Amino acid sequence: MLEYFKKLASLYKVPLDNVISIALNRYGIVMDNTLDNRLRFDVEILDTHTKNFFAVCVNTYPNSPFKLVDDKLYLDNEVIAKVSNIEKDTCTATYFRNNKKAITFNSNSRSKCAGCKFCGTYSLSEDDSYDFSKVENVIAYFTKLLKENNISGMEKLESVTICTGCFPLEDDLIKHLYTVNEAFIKMGYKGSLNYIGSQLTSYDKIKEISQNINDFGMYLTIEKFLDRDKFMRPEKASLTLDKAKDLLEYASSLGITTTFLYILGLESLEAIQTYFTYFKDSINKFPVVQVFQDYTKEQENYRIEEAKDIEYYLQAKQIIKDIYKDTGLAPKLWESYRGLYTSKDFQGRKLLR
Ligand code: SF4
Repeated sequence: MLEYFKKLASLYKVPLDNVISIALNRYGIVMDNTLDNRLRFDVEILDTHTKNFFAVCVNTYPNSPFKLVDDKLYLDNEVIAKVSNIEKDTCTATYFRNNKKAITFNSNSRSKCAGCKFCGTYSLSEDDSYDFSKVENVIAYFTKLLKENNISGMEKLESVTICTGCFPLEDDLIKHLYTVNEAFIKMGYKGSLNYIGSQLTSYDKIKEISQNINDFGMYLTIEKFLDRDKFMRPEKASLTLDKAKDLLEYASSLGITTTFLYILGLESLEAIQTYFTYFKDSINKFPVVQVFQDYTKEQENYRIEEAKDIEYYLQAKQIIKDIYKDTGLAPKLWESYRGLYTSKDFQGRKLLR
């Protein structure tokens, strides 16, 4: 397999660690004597000495060529990387990214949300049951979080992204966004507040938010372009692609940061070509692409045949790169732990980690 990865790296002119990273996310790892189905850890690839963070599935794809034994990662029978800081991947309420300058905030218990076929949060251990319905509760939670992480105040943070389970109604979501915003203002936060989801669909509400929340971001969870109703909860699937595009264009015109999230591995390269082009002019931030992972063994059945091979991901990467090459937009590595990029391979520009 290593020889094959080297061949792909040379064919697609990408670093070898890029191919290995994509493969690790796609295949997950096998491991003896464990009941854990998900782990997170730092991986230092021995060949290149690049160090990256991964959160991968364990034993859900038994044919994975990657095996973890103690702190060594094997590719077939060869040790290719050193692994450190191994921990169980739970569905936590918050986690840091970008050297603790960014927070992902799972404020509405994703572990209790279910219904999207590719989602794995309900197979994770629950660690996210808090009540964030009141300003005081949000303040208390973040005060403790900052203290535990030796961060002197919210002004040290640059972005908080709310990535959360579905709310019963759009109004509940909006109320929640305002509660969090109020708490953060009281704590001296000056960075961006972003919402990942697809429940914000009223034009007047989006306008109101753009006036009330400083530096707001709307990251639409498109996830998949075709057969959306067969794969997603009705709240998400009911957003048509035409409406999504229109919403993104409208939000962009108001100065909101706009992008969409996409799960790679569920549909053809033709669909990727068509729809990444379709959305190109409606967003002002590079799309967040995530390699589809098997949280359960059954989920491998949703991966299309051509996506079973790593080459598919490299082809998709090239297609997306070509579509966005004139836009000036570039991915941020820290925004996707299962993305397609490494620090030096995007149009020759150095990407932010
Ligand atoms: S909306 Fe879908 S993808 Fe998001 S947490 Fe709920 S089930 Fe998972």
